[in-house]
Amino acid sequence: MSTVTCPSCGASSRIRANAPGRPVCRSCKTRLPWVVDADTATFSQEVAGPLPTIVDFWAAWCGPCRAVAPALMSIAERHAGEVKVVKVDVDANQQLAQQFQAMSIPLLVFFKNGQERDRVVGAQPAAALEARLAPLLTG
Ligand SMILES: [Zn+2]
Repeated sequence: MSTVTCPSCGASSRIRANAPGRPVCRSCKTRLPWVVDADTATFSQEVAGPLPTIVDFWAAWCGPCRAVAPALMSIAERHAGEVKVVKVDVDANQQLAQQFQAMSIPLLVFFKNGQERDRVVGAQPAAALEARLAPLLTG
């Protein structure tokens, strides 16, 4: 369960991991940018869906991670209802970090239907991430 704040009216909505359908604001019904935190217990559910999903392996001490976070948020807002962003704190989830070889962060891993489709290491501008995302949106 994650809480997402509506960019339109500011209401917060609670969203279940891998909830059916796409999240909308419980108040104004605007499509919400789908940004959730995952841990070892919820990870496989969070990436299992049919929407293109970008997993952000990050840490609080990582400067480039703070640089890439707004780019990811802008993608989540621009593609509300089409894309999901899943945040994994590598310090709190070392097992996942090892599983995905997140030695260098930020590491962005792109999933669709639970399958890894692409990955990007290091901070990238939103335009570069959009370019990586494009084939997953169409195919
Ligand atoms: Zn709203």
